Amino acid sequence: MAVSSETDWVSRFADEVIAEAERRAPGKTIVCASGLSPSGPIHLGNLREVMTPHLVADEIRRRGYECVHVLSWDDYDRFRKVPAGIDPAWAEHIGKPLTSVPAPPGSPYASWAEHFKAPMIAALAEMGIEFHGISQTERYTSGAYREQILFAMRERERIDAILAQYRTKDKGASPAPRQTPVDEAEAAAVEGSGAATEDDGSAAAGYFPYKPYCSACERDLTTVTSYDDETTELAYTCVCGFSEVVRLSEHNRGKLVWKVDWPMRWQYEGVVFEPSGVDHSSPGSSFIVGGQIVRDVFGGDQPIGPMYAFVGISGMAKMSSSKGGVPTPADALEIMEAPLLRWLYARRKPNQSFKIAFDQEIQRLYDEWDALARKVADGTALPADLAAHARAIGTAAGPLPTTPRPVPYRTLASVVDVAAGDPEQTLRILRDLDPADPIESLDETRPRLDRATHWVTTQVPVEQRTRVRDEPDAELLASLGDAERESLRLLLEGIDEHWSLEALTTLVYSVPKLQAGLPADAKPTPELKVAQREFFALLYRLLVGRDTGPRLPTLLLAVGAGRVRKLLDA
Ligand SMILES: [Zn+2]
Repeated sequence: MAVSSETDWVSRFADEVIAEAERRAPGKTIVCASGLSPSGPIHLGNLREVMTPHLVADEIRRRGYECVHVLSWDDYDRFRKVPAGIDPAWAEHIGKPLTSVPAPPGSPYASWAEHFKAPMIAALAEMGIEFHGISQTERYTSGAYREQILFAMRERERIDAILAQYRTKDKGASPAPRQTPVDEAEAAAVEGSGAATEDDGSAAAGYFPYKPYCSACERDLTTVTSYDDETTELAYTCVCGFSEVVRLSEHNRGKLVWKVDWPMRWQYEGVVFEPSGVDHSSPGSSFIVGGQIVRDVFGGDQPIGPMYAFVGISGMAKMSSSKGGVPTPADALEIMEAPLLRWLYARRKPNQSFKIAFDQEIQRLYDEWDALARKVADGTALPADLAAHARAIGTAAGPLPTTPRPVPYRTLASVVDVAAGDPEQTLRILRDLDPADPIESLDETRPRLDRATHWVTTQVPVEQRTRVRDEPDAELLASLGDAERESLRLLLEGIDEHWSLEALTTLVYSVPKLQAGLPADAKPTPELKVAQREFFALLYRLLVGRDTGPRLPTLLLAVGAGRVRKLLDA
C-alpha cells in the first residue's frame, strides 16, 4: 500500500479526498467524478476533465482504498447547434436530447451522442483510464432521479431565491473574470462545455427547475405553464403548437436545468472529488451556485473541486483548420504513446496551463521524457518527477504497454522521413544505429515507431520533409575549393569503419579538426565551431539540397554508404 508522502499535487488531493470521504461516510467506496458532453468531437482540451480525477482516483486505489471514477455522459443535454461540416438539415434536431439526434451521415452508431462517445471511450481505454460510465439519458428516462426531481420542484422557490442572488450579482458586479481563450482548441472547449449559457428555469408562470422535452417534437422548446405539488401535474406548451398535462410522478421525458442537475448528482452519487474548468468556476458559475444548492436545498456536500486551466495545442490547429476541427485525444494517441500523454497531465498542477505539441516541439518533449526515464532508472530522479513518471507508465491495475527499444523519437522521425516509410529501408537504418546491439525487427521499436511515422506523414509540412538527391549536384561539386574537397575525402575515407550512429557522430565532428591540424579529440574552439557548421551545411546541400536536415549521423546512415559516396564524390 502506497504511503501519503505529499510528493506531488495528485498525492495532496488524494490525502484531502480520503480525509473528506472518511468524514462523510467511513469505509464507503470513494467517488471521483467527471462529466463530458458528446455534443460533437470531444476535444483534446476536454481530456483534463477526465485526467484530473483519474489521477487522483488512481492514487487512492494505489493506497488500497475502494474508489470509483464516475464519468457522466451528458447525453441528455439538448443539441444546441449544427457544427461546421455537417449537413445544415440537422438544424431540425436542435433542442432534442443528443441521444435522439441521428448520427452524422455514414456513421455506424445509433445516435449523435453514441457517435462522439465511441472514439473517446477507445482513447480512454488506450490510456489505461478505468471509469464507470453513466448515460444521463438512461438515468433520466428510467426515472432514476424521480425523487430528486419532485423534491427540486417542491423546493423551487428556495432554488429560485438562491439563483436570484447570483442573477443580481451578475448584473451589478463587474463581469465574471474570463480568460481569453489561448487558441482555437480552447475556444472550442469553452463552447463545448455544456450548459454555461443555458437558461436556469425562469418562466412567465414562475420558476420551474424542470424542463420537459416535448412529447410531439422531442425538442425542449417548451414552457411550463403550471405545476401542482399535490398531484404533480405539470402543464407545458411547446413552440411546435403541442401542449399537454403530465404527471411528474410518472413522466420521464425531461430534465433538471443544469445549475440544479449538477448539484443533484453530487448528492445522488456522493461525489467527493470533481474538478471543473474555469468557465464553471467564476462567480455565479455552476460550481459556485451548485455548492449553495447542494448544501441549502439537497442537504449534501459540495465535492472538492479544483479549477483546472485550459490545455492548448501547438501545431495541429493550424494544419487541421481546413477540416474545421481541433484535435481529439485519439489524434494525440496517433502521434505519441499513452504514457507520454499521461505524463503531460501528471506533471502539471491542474491550475497550470500547458500545450500539447503536434509540431516540432514533440521531439524535444520526447527527449525530456527519455531523459526522465534514464534518471528514474539510475535512481537520480527527484521525488515529484519520480511520482509523475510512475503515474504516466501505469495505473493501480498495472503497467501500460511500452516500446521495448525506445529509440529517440527524433531519430525515428528522421529515419522514417528519409526512408519515406519503406519498412525494409527503415529496418536497415535502425539495424545500423548500433552494430554492437543491432535492432533485428521493427517490432522492437513499436509502438513508438508507428507514432513517429504518423507524425511525420500527417504533421510535418511537405516543404520540411527530407528528399535525398537522386543525382550528385555536379555544379556545386565542380565549384568546390581544395579545402572543401579535402573535407569530403576525409569523410568518405572514414565512413566504412565508422558505420554506426555513435562513430559517425565522432567522424563528422572530427573532419574539421583534422583539417585544422588538431587531434580528433580536440576541444572545440569558436573557429572550429564555425568550420564544423560550414562543413555540415555543405554536406546537407550535397545530400538533400538544403542547408539543414535531420541530424547528420542519422542522415548518413539513412542515405546508405553507397549513395553517400555517389553524392559526395568530388
Ligand atoms: Zn414540440
